[in-house]
Amino acid sequence: TAAMIERRDALLGPAYRLMYEHPLHIVRGEGVWLIDPDGRRYLDIYNNVASLGHCHPAVTEAICNQVKVLATNTRYLHDTILELAERLLATVPETDLTHLMLTCTGSEANDLAYRIAQVRTGGTGVIVTDTAYHGFTDAVSKFSPSLGVTVDLGVHVRLVPAPRLYHAEGADLSERFTRDVEAAIADLKRHGIKPAALIVDSLFTSDGILPEPAGFLKGAAEAIKRAGGLFIADEVQPGFGRTGEHMWGFQRHGVIPDIVTLGKPMGNGQPIAGLLATADALAEFGKNSRYFNTFAGNTVSCAAALAVLDTIEKEGLVQHAARVGKLLRDGISELASRHEAIGDVRGVGMFVGVELVSDRATRAPDRELTTRVVNRMRDKGVLLSACAMGHNVLKIRPPLVLSAEQAGMVIEVLDEALTGR
Ligand code: PMP
Repeated sequence: TAAMIERRDALLGPAYRLMYEHPLHIVRGEGVWLIDPDGRRYLDIYNNVASLGHCHPAVTEAICNQVKVLATNTRYLHDTILELAERLLATVPETDLTHLMLTCTGSEANDLAYRIAQVRTGGTGVIVTDTAYHGFTDAVSKFSPSLGVTVDLGVHVRLVPAPRLYHAEGADLSERFTRDVEAAIADLKRHGIKPAALIVDSLFTSDGILPEPAGFLKGAAEAIKRAGGLFIADEVQPGFGRTGEHMWGFQRHGVIPDIVTLGKPMGNGQPIAGLLATADALAEFGKNSRYFNTFAGNTVSCAAALAVLDTIEKEGLVQHAARVGKLLRDGISELASRHEAIGDVRGVGMFVGVELVSDRATRAPDRELTTRVVNRMRDKGVLLSACAMGHNVLKIRPPLVLSAEQAGMVIEVLDEALTGR
């Protein structure tokens, strides 16, 4: 491994990062498992890209069948992209979201959404939460504060505190979040900056996984619309059934976005992402801009995405995510009676956050323990990571197909890792 790390650093340069104290060399994926060259199997509970499980046969087959026939772009008529648009738009019948545009990455999707918002509103101001991640392009990295010191935020960007219920001390979180967004809008205006959009990851996954209370986004979404900006839901992480309730995370809040951005699990590993938008949001942009993205919407990626939608339905993965996700949360909550460090266990569907604290009374983050637990679990064959401002929230987002038995294994290994065994 050491020689490979050295070779990698020499070839790829210093901007890449590996996970874990003892980095992994992985050569095969199979369902919820990642497999190293010696055949050791790791339970992957940190993968919302291979959301149906690694190398799901339905997706592999769809890719192979299509790539043998035609792999080309959106400048020709083809059924796959139209069928994909119809299928995705059918998931939001209660909204005015009537168009699909495709990209290759979630960053591009947010970048495009921001461009559309600027054209639609004539503004540039963006409001995001304080530990959000929305992508790597120049425009989008300027409103991705979780990148930390590596990127400067734009002068047109305003941060609002993420809605952290565990730290809210009985406050009305919905009211507080709305007030914070209103204050950000007012501050933008005071500086002569017209608001273009409020962009939120509807599960606040970089901010620490913050689903509760359902409905808290409503006031903030109304506030940005009142100010002439667009409400953009970033569904790159919560989308495609992960919440175990609906197809999209925003649906638990009863809000209707102007734009919804999609990515990660959309092709179960095939690079396909995109956005759903209203006719109103797109009208002006479409008049003045030509959109072409060489690889986005290619026939092979669209075939993969169609297979993903079929499989979510056929295997009942939304319901499954709800059931097994609850087992995970309940099991970890039980551990809290024996492990003082567990301050909070939260989440929805197959997304679980475990906040580790050095003192339950003050809720002070325990970053060191979190890092130790992540590495110990890796050594024991369970792969996860951490998020949030204090880097003290274990981020558990397994493929949706995780079984009840495998959930039990996660709980057991977490118990051991917290004990220091
Ligand atoms: N938005 C969110 C919420 C994300 O988590 C990510 C990726 N972690 C992105 C956007 C960017 O997606 P990509 O890496 O595909 O560009």
